[in-house]
Amino acid sequence: MVGAVEVSACAGIMRHCPHLAIPAAAWADAIRAALERIDLAGRLGATTGGLVPAHQVFRVVVAGCPNACSRPQIADIGVIGHIVRRVDAEMCVDCKLCERACPDHCVHVTEAGPQFGDKCLNCRDCIAACPSAAITAERAVATLLAGGRLGRHPRLAETVAEGLSLDECIERIVAMAEEYATGRATGERFADWWGQRRA
Ligand code: SF4
Ligand code: SF4
Ligand code: SF4
Repeated sequence: MVGAVEVSACAGIMRHCPHLAIPAAAWADAIRAALERIDLAGRLGATTGGLVPAHQVFRVVVAGCPNACSRPQIADIGVIGHIVRRVDAEMCVDCKLCERACPDHCVHVTEAGPQFGDKCLNCRDCIAACPSAAITAERAVATLLAGGRLGRHPRLAETVAEGLSLDECIERIVAMAEEYATGRATGERFADWWGQRRA
């Protein structure tokens, strides 16, 4: 038996990761505090002192960028940080460093400045490479996922909402947690409850 709620983040802050789009550890701390305020662990493990079998733990995983090293896609709740980009084409010096920096080859520099393809994940790699502030980060936001799991019936989490601030993320996560704590069958893990709810 283990604690009924676990909130974790990728190691981006500790490792001074250059890809960090959101401060993942701070977001995880804020989400953990919000779930403590509604006593989610106490409610999920009401008859066992806040403890549950390992496969029933309600897991929230935060990734600091779309590389998603912490594997939010297989968590009950996943949070993936990214940025909202601002482009100032007049600042572009045509160095093409952004093209070389993009892992997905989806930025192309034209006479009208950098142009972004459909596969752009709004990470900040091209921003970090740009020497002239032609591409900058306007703000940090996140995509919210729910319902991922491994085990006997693995499933990737689905996207619930995109472009959320930390406060908006917390609001959505607390609402899902409240609904789950109230409406689940005894011992039902979040991903299964979520799948039933979406069916
Ligand atoms: S998810 Fe992104 S920010 Fe976090 S450790 Fe991986 S690459 Fe770095
Ligand atoms: S923000 Fe988009 S274009 Fe820029 S490096 Fe990331 S995926 Fe490539
Ligand atoms: S890195 Fe910046 S300055 Fe260089 S081509 Fe790309 S947008 Fe323009």
